[in-house]
This record gives sequence, structure tokens and C-alpha cells, in this order.
Amino acid sequence: MRRRVQSKKTTIIKKKLILIKKMIIVRKYGLLEPENWGDDCHEQLFLMNKFWNQLVEIDRADRAQYKDIIIADPDITKLEAELQTISDQVLNLSKEQKKLRASKRSKNVDDGLLVEHIKILREQERTIKTELKAKRIIVREASKPELEALNNKRKYAVKLARQQSGLWWGNYNAVCESYENARGKAIKIGVDLRFKRFDGSGRFVNQIQGGMTVTDFMNSNHTVACIYPLPIAINDRQGKARARLNITAFTGADEAGKHYRRLLSFPIILHRPLPEIENGQPVRIKTISINKKRISAGHFTWSVTITATVDADITAHTSTIAAGINLGWKREGQSLRVASYYDTNGNTGHYRLPAKWAAAIDYVESLRGDIDEVTNEIFNTLKIQTESELLKQAKHPHTGLIYRYAREINCKPALQAHTITKADVLKSIALLPALEALPCYLAWSRYKEREFSSLHTRLLNQRKDYYRNIAADLADKYSVITLDNADYAKMARLESRSGEENELLKIARTNRFRVSPSELRLTIEQAVLKRGGKVERINQQNECANCGRPDKQESIIWKCAHCGAVYDQDENMAKLLIRNYLPTPLIQSTV
Ligand SMILES: [Zn+2]
Repeated sequence: MRRRVQSKKTTIIKKKLILIKKMIIVRKYGLLEPENWGDDCHEQLFLMNKFWNQLVEIDRADRAQYKDIIIADPDITKLEAELQTISDQVLNLSKEQKKLRASKRSKNVDDGLLVEHIKILREQERTIKTELKAKRIIVREASKPELEALNNKRKYAVKLARQQSGLWWGNYNAVCESYENARGKAIKIGVDLRFKRFDGSGRFVNQIQGGMTVTDFMNSNHTVACIYPLPIAINDRQGKARARLNITAFTGADEAGKHYRRLLSFPIILHRPLPEIENGQPVRIKTISINKKRISAGHFTWSVTITATVDADITAHTSTIAAGINLGWKREGQSLRVASYYDTNGNTGHYRLPAKWAAAIDYVESLRGDIDEVTNEIFNTLKIQTESELLKQAKHPHTGLIYRYAREINCKPALQAHTITKADVLKSIALLPALEALPCYLAWSRYKEREFSSLHTRLLNQRKDYYRNIAADLADKYSVITLDNADYAKMARLESRSGEENELLKIARTNRFRVSPSELRLTIEQAVLKRGGKVERINQQNECANCGRPDKQESIIWKCAHCGAVYDQDENMAKLLIRNYLPTPLIQSTV
């Protein structure tokens, strides 16, 4: 008799299916510096930022008053005080535990009592939290009129700030929308909204009333925004001719305060086409947002985000094949293996980030390492040689901190940044008084920070593109995809716990950061759902797909110590993930 042996740890998590009525398409394209940016544009961005800060102020006042109403209840005050005491106790015990482990340089210390104590406290914490939650609901219900009045007061304050903002409606609407979104999130996780310092960054959002077709957009048939497809010669970094994006910006205001429109033109990098038809229905562009982002002093990156909708229901996927996908971050030769699949037809294969990309990220990380090393050096020297409170109180050195210090003492970077090398800076820190070495450091590190940040962004964008392609490939082929439910962020914490990771773990962790499996997982899931497929996340323990027993699996190709089966680790895992869909059970035993 054949019996299916199923691992106890295999549980299928039914993912909440996201119901998408309208398909939404979002595309981001790089822009080059606009040809006709003006002070009026800068002014609107400044006012938008100011308006944001006003909204944060209103929100903070509102949250404080809200808390006053809720906390006024004596039971809640008492419960919150108890909760605080317990949290403090837990914190102290964890500190003790850490100290104990540090003193023995090991995780395997006799801290059973501490662990037990923490466990009990955590249990109490949970009980109080549940009580608090129930109590809060009651209080909220009882203070409904007060809370409603408070909310109206906030809405009125927002309206007033909006009217006095001096912004065109499209611009203040965009700020209000991000405020409402951020507010919802902030309340959910219990944090305050943050003020933003104006550094020249910002965005212009153009809503297209009723939407516009991609054809109209690409053939310059719309006044609000359009592409002039005729390439214009631009001497940009790559020396390519670019199409031009024209958008209407409402930035100017005449003496009567009436806003008028003006044109902004950007050379656009159309690296992938905007689809005109999706699922047999026309794509309609709804919003176009121009983003300006500061990367370093006087340097900005520009991009445009286009959001479009398609009025089509998503039809069910027609493929009958399902596949298990195992995500990973193994180095394979010069490239990085990021995904392996095993499908119900028995096909198997891998996806990789190319060697070129891996080499580039190596370089970017070495840049980061260099900057950090030299920053450490100057930080320590300055701390000893100067009486700066700013540096004394700082916990971690970083370039921003040193720049702030330099601004305080009015120290300017040396000229000819690109001719200064890392060795030059280190030598000057070692030989000169730190204050005299500072200009040299400032020039070098700013130059390197800029190089780092532009390269880093470019590589992450490239990775996003690779992932989209992998996801599209998988989503086209398979109607069902199963993935590991692993919490990658948590794995990162475990790997570095107690701070005694070995060299191998360190490399694995670096590769995991480079690969970002959670980003790939999300991209795959979105692609599958978009095509009417189904996604499942499964908690799967690593074991031999042939005999069902766990093994160490120390290399990519592994021979099972129990049954002798030879397999590729990742393919084995992908097979386990899709086991429930396979025509014949994976593990068979004769009873
Ligand atoms: Zn085996």
C-alpha cells in the first residue's frame, strides 16, 4: 500500500487574494534636467514643503488632544503605567542577558532563569495589551461626540492651511493626499508624522481629468502632458538623442494672485514602452508626477511616474502548469543565483543576476567600505583633537555628521576633489592636525558619496528590471506559483544575533542584502495576480524531497546522507514547495 508521508511542518497559508477590479499600471522613467526650470517652480516646491510641515503640525496637535481624551480615562492610565513598568523590566532583563552572553562570548550560557522571567513578563504584557485594546474601544465609543468634534476641528485647520498655502489646487491636493495616506499609516503603527527640511526636492502631480490614451500622450495630442517623439540631440552621459516630455505646470501667479500655466520640458529616457492596450482594453493615463530628488549638494535626479488604469476584469490564467519557486542568494561562479523552479511537468531551472551586475555591486560596496573607513578615521581624530560637543555625543560616525561639524566651524572642502585619493586623505589625517585634514576629507568623501549614490541607485533599478523580467517569465508560464513563506528580515536578525557570525554567514548575509529575496517574491506575486494566476506561500522545512528527512545540505549539489539521492539544493526545495500539486506524491513508502 502506498502512503503519502507529509511533513508536519507543511502548512499552506492561504494568501488573502487581492481583488483588483481595475488593473493599474505604473511606470517610472528617468528624466534629464529640464530645459526651462524657473524660480517659480522652485517656489511652488518650497511652498508645498512648507504646507506639508504645517499639516504635520496640525496632525501632532490633533494626536495630542486625541490622547488626552482617551487617556483621561483612569483605567487606561493605570493599564498604560503597568505596561510601561513591564516593558522597562523586560528591557533590563534583556540587557542583563546580553551582558552575560558577552562576558562568556557565547549564546550557550546558563540564562534559563532570565529566559523564564522574560517569558512570564511577555505573557503579562500580552494580557494587558488585550485589555487595553478592549478598554480603548469602549472609551472611544463613549467619547464619540468629543472625538468627532476634534476631527472636524482638524479638518477645518487643514482647509485653512490649504487656502493660505499660496499653492495651485493640483499641487495642494497632491500634498493633502500624501498627508492622509501617511497619517493613516502613522496612526496604525503609533508614530508621529515627520517634518521635512526643504532641500530643493519635491514633485509636481498632474491629474488628467477623465484620463488620456497612451496614443494621445505619445503623439502630443494633449495639452496637460505629452511626449514629443522626435528625438532631440542631447549631449548627456550616453550621448543619445532623447524624446522630450512636455508637461503643464501651474507655478506662476500674477499680481492678482491668479495662477497661470507654464510649460516644462524634459529629455526623457523611455527605456521600456508604455503599453497602449492591456487585456484587450485601452490603457488610460490618470496621473503624471514629476519627481525631483536631491542626491547631494547642488545635484538632483529627475524622474516621471505615470499611473494608468485599464477597465478590464482580470481573466483567469489559462495555463494548467504550476511551479514551486525557491528564492535564494547563492553565488554561482561570478553570478548570483536568485530563483529556482520545479514545475508540475517536471521541468526545472534557475534565474540569475548576471556577473556584470554582481561585479558592479562589489565595486559599490567597496566604495561604501572606503568612505566608512576614512570617516571613522577622521571622526576619531577630530573627537580627540577638538572639543566639539556634537562629535562627543554622537554614537556612530557618518559623513553627514562630519559635514554638519564642518558647517558649524565654517570649513570648506578643498578644490580638485577628483584628484584626491583615499591614501591622500588617510595620510593627511595621520600627519596633519585633524582640522587641517578636514578640507581634504570633505572634498574626497563628497565626491565618493556622489559616485556611490548614483551607482547604487542605478544598480537597484537594474535589479528591479531583472526581477520584473523573471516575474513576467514565470507568471506567463504558470497559473499557480508556490513560494516559501520565510521572513527574510527575521533571518537577517538571527544570522547576526550575538554578533559572532562566521565569515561564511557574513558572505551569505551580504549576498542576501544584494539580492533582496523579499523584493523578488513580491514582484513575482504581483505579476502572477495581474495575469489572473494564483499565489501560495508555504512554510516549508528544508528536507530531502526523496526520503523526507532533513539533512545539513552544505553545498549546492548534495548527496542525501539517508537515502543517497543526489540533488541540487534549490531544485529540491522548489520541488518540496510544489509537492501538493504534483501528479504523484513525492515521497512514497511501502507499509
Ligand atoms: Zn534522502
